[in-house]
Amino acid sequence: MAGEPQDDCLFCKIVEGHVPATIVRETETTVAFRDINPQAPTHILIIPRVHYENAAALASGAPEVAADLLREAQAVADDEKLESYRVVFNTGAGAGQTVFHAHAHVLGGRGLQWPPG
Ligand code: AMP
Ligand code: ZN
Repeated sequence: MAGEPQDDCLFCKIVEGHVPATIVRETETTVAFRDINPQAPTHILIIPRVHYENAAALASGAPEVAADLLREAQAVADDEKLESYRVVFNTGAGAGQTVFHAHAHVLGGRGLQWPPG
């Protein structure tokens, strides 16, 4: 069912504490941890505790949690003392999505090119 934990989902396992992660912030609805393969000096993933396959599905199924992700992006940026940062939601394999549990990438700490690749 939408929002239920999935046995084969890496990020559900991180939420449940079954896979280790460097967690930097937690709320009732979200978990934020450092990306294992950072693409910038600060590269943090923010995930909802509930399982939806991408950001749009989360926004449809649990819109208040989608808003929590965006609020947490600012909180992470504040904690990391980032004046500027980028929030990325890769959606679909062609855009580089490899984990099909919604997540926001928060990237900062270096100059960021626009447009992104
Ligand atoms: P995406 O490619 O947008 O689906 O993002 C998935 C991200 O998860 C990638 O940036 C990976 O480096 C990251 N990742 C994969 N496994 C782990 C892990 N065990 N802990 C932290 N980050 C991970
Ligand atoms: Zn999941």
